[in-house]
Amino acid sequence: MDKSIFAKALESQLRSKYNTTVENALDWQLHECVSSAVMEHISPNHAQSLEKHLSGRRAMYLSMEFLMGRAVHNNLMCAGVYEDVEDVLKQHGRSLGELETIEDAALGNGGLGRLAACFLDSAATLDLPLDGYGIRYKYGLFKQKIVDGFQKEEADNWTKYGDPWSVRCQQDAVNIQYADMTVRAVPYDMPIIGYGTDNVGNLRLWQAEAVDDFDFNKFNDGDYTGAQAKKNAAEDISRVLYPNDNTSEGKKLRLRQEYFFSAASVADAIRKHKARFGSLDELEKYLTIQLNDTHPVIAIPELIRQLVCEGYDFETAFEKAHKIFNYTNHTIMAEALEKWDCSLVESVIPKVYTYILMINERFIRDMYSKGMDKKDIAAIQPVAGGRVNMAYMAIYVSSYINGVAEIHTEILKKDALKKWYELYPERFQNKTNGITQRRWLALCNKELSALITRLLGDSGWITDLDRLKELAKYADDENVLGEFIRIKKTKKQQLADFIKQNDGIEINPDTIFDIQIKRLHEYKRQLLNALSIIYIYYGIKDGSIRDFTPTTFIFGAKSAPGYRRAKAIIKLLGEIGKMVNSDEQTKDLLKVVFVQNYNVSAAEKLVCAADVSEQISTAGTEASGTGNMKLMLNGAVTLGTYDGANVEIVQEAGEENNYIFGARVEELADIMPDYDPRKLVFENEKIGRVLEKLIDSNFDDGGVPSDQEGSFKELYKALTDGASWHVPDHYYVVGDLESYVAAKLRCNSDYKDKLAFARKCWLNMCSAGKFSSDRTIRDYAQNIWKIVPVSKRGV
Ligand SMILES: *Cc1c(COP(=O)(O)O)cnc(C)c1O
Repeated sequence: MDKSIFAKALESQLRSKYNTTVENALDWQLHECVSSAVMEHISPNHAQSLEKHLSGRRAMYLSMEFLMGRAVHNNLMCAGVYEDVEDVLKQHGRSLGELETIEDAALGNGGLGRLAACFLDSAATLDLPLDGYGIRYKYGLFKQKIVDGFQKEEADNWTKYGDPWSVRCQQDAVNIQYADMTVRAVPYDMPIIGYGTDNVGNLRLWQAEAVDDFDFNKFNDGDYTGAQAKKNAAEDISRVLYPNDNTSEGKKLRLRQEYFFSAASVADAIRKHKARFGSLDELEKYLTIQLNDTHPVIAIPELIRQLVCEGYDFETAFEKAHKIFNYTNHTIMAEALEKWDCSLVESVIPKVYTYILMINERFIRDMYSKGMDKKDIAAIQPVAGGRVNMAYMAIYVSSYINGVAEIHTEILKKDALKKWYELYPERFQNKTNGITQRRWLALCNKELSALITRLLGDSGWITDLDRLKELAKYADDENVLGEFIRIKKTKKQQLADFIKQNDGIEINPDTIFDIQIKRLHEYKRQLLNALSIIYIYYGIKDGSIRDFTPTTFIFGAKSAPGYRRAKAIIKLLGEIGKMVNSDEQTKDLLKVVFVQNYNVSAAEKLVCAADVSEQISTAGTEASGTGNMKLMLNGAVTLGTYDGANVEIVQEAGEENNYIFGARVEELADIMPDYDPRKLVFENEKIGRVLEKLIDSNFDDGGVPSDQEGSFKELYKALTDGASWHVPDHYYVVGDLESYVAAKLRCNSDYKDKLAFARKCWLNMCSAGKFSSDRTIRDYAQNIWKIVPVSKRGV
């Protein structure tokens, strides 16, 4: 892009849209016009790429969530114009930094949605014909404020100041039919700019609108509200992202949402294929669809339904669906598995329900013909007990099913989906998750990126992360490590500045930054971290812990609004902070900070400032994790359990360079049946006094009655007595506490030798190549989707 042409385009945009200049434009006006100018620049490539993707076999990625974050800086970098644009702005006394006030596109909850975003980035960069399909929520994930230590939610109207990175494609709108209404699905396309290539991927987000949005007769009759009613009912469907991470609610509107974007995406695929090839006879040769978790699984009976409408018989349609669909499993936790009540599905989408039943019948026939007995069939049939098991339907129809880390896939095969694995062993694959090094290193840590590029002699690592291995030879080079330490210090200072501004709290960059950032969940065990801080606090006070290296414990986490126990844990962290931050004996040694509104933009600041990455889920519960990879890539050691991708992180970077603790999956299987946390609390005085703190009334939980969730006493009871739906301490917090504290203290002591600790951090960074989503996506492309880069297609 020619700088002076860009400058002219920017000036003309600002003049025509807002009658202003680069000097005087408001942040959001500047954002709008910088973005529009770059959009214009890339739009020929975007159009050409869309066309190219359709000219051969391609993959669709269906996901209820895309946690994209802020687009502008990443897009400028990937388009290769970041420095040019910054130069132009500088000439007018402006800077790209000012655009940090622009809202994130937070159309996702956490890891699952961010994975989808990283995948699109990697596929675009690798020239792979993969396009994303999802929902254009009007309100993304809520904004979190901490008021008196409590989480408060605010609506996230992310397009308030426009959405310059989307193009409305009215011509591709489709009607979606429910039993009681028909809704228009209007697509908005976002370019996914590949790095160092002309290929531009596409994210198509569907927005729900009324078919005819205004009832003129009602209006004339004076019924002003009634005139708007249909419009509102239609728009409700894409109004808001459900804020639950890893839980399924079974709500009617949620089912409508799932069907809405699944059906629209399937219709889009069919229409495009027919337009190009005349018939659908070879659809499966040109199309493969990845289902990100079970949320889009309703696309399976819907595709069959649409094919039958096109004149195919059920059996032919089923075979096509079998060849087209693949399913990614993200969790085995019961509360996350989607099982829809048959009555609900039948009442909302009766025509689709018919095909669900036909799939189920086909399954039963299929199993009888294999000689399976009735009981075994009943155990895994997709429709049973008045509910549709979406995972089972997906596995039965799909070509491939994958887990997201080695340990997770093994658990699927040996335990959670054992019967299915025995039936179809050839369908199961592992695809360990990954992250894009464009956003999670090149963009968020320009200082470290510059060092890496200088040492390697070129910036090839940005598209080939395995090159970081070559840097392992500097692990004992004091000059390089010295520079690495200085960079970490700079990033810690930048984070301190951000936290000052975001939360009004001062933190000291000369302390250890020990960071736990992720959704607030019992299985992720922020409570374990909290209890360990109380443990250490008492240890420092009674002199049993000496020479403690000053540490700042940093948390960032949103709780689902209705998840009372998670909200209690947020409040608890605040109370612990008050205690340790103000105690004369500990305030220079311990500091606890809660960063409000954790999102992608905050993550970009946090991951590069960590010394210690907290990945402490109960073994067997975190399918993969991707936060762990972001922190590793930026040179933090992992303090974690043998869970998810931590296992592979340690395999790559060496156990000696990380801090692994706690019961393993196999051990927990033996322990849990007769686990009694009360015994530990009773016999171990140090554990006892930590737990006591939850009930001794020095901490203020806002006065919630003790039998209610949200209170600290209820947290105590969950750990000691359990609850109606779970055994005492079902995530083994108390059981792992001692080994966790021991690992934490070992790490704390190791930090005193700055060079030795930096060496561990360095080697973690050098070993992060495997965790590039480029590796993950290549693996999907070769072994599931069977697609090749558009640049390598025969002409
Ligand atoms: C990466 C990321 C996550 C996922 O973190 P985990 O530690 O893997 O759970 C969640 N939210 C945001 C904003 C992220 O960037």
